[in-house]
Amino acid sequence: MLRVEELNKPAGTWCPSCRKGVGCGIYETRPGECRTFGCLWLADEQFPAELKPERSKVVFAVEFGGGRVGAYVDADQPAAWRRPDIFALLKRMAAAQAARRGQVIVFIRDRAIAILPDREVDLGAVNVPGKSIVYRDDPRTGRIDVQVV
Ligand code: SF4
Repeated sequence: MLRVEELNKPAGTWCPSCRKGVGCGIYETRPGECRTFGCLWLADEQFPAELKPERSKVVFAVEFGGGRVGAYVDADQPAAWRRPDIFALLKRMAAAQAARRGQVIVFIRDRAIAILPDREVDLGAVNVPGKSIVYRDDPRTGRIDVQVV
């Protein structure tokens, strides 16, 4: 359950227009954010079929022109991203993104966890308006440093 700014809908809450088991109740007039949202399971033929969001409980989306992969976890099953095949996919994505300092972020309601090739960084409650996640090179360690600004 993603945040939808145009609807003033916080992360982790149901949209009042959602018809469970049916779909969007205002599909023809849904906001622009909903129209442009791209779920990887739908958009990428190479994406593992078994990770259909209704089964995996994780929705993957490419954001910021590819600068971020967001993995939005069903708040009722907050450990879903730890499932071995999903975690392995997140790590592969993190390795691919690392070369260009792209991000892989797990979101559980407003909590964000940065997935890096060598570790995970729990950023706490940052999925709120006005906060951004920034990756920087740490010259002391040679690792990626994750900051919230
Ligand atoms: S697609 Fe429809 S149900 Fe889903 S968040 Fe947008 S308006 Fe709500």
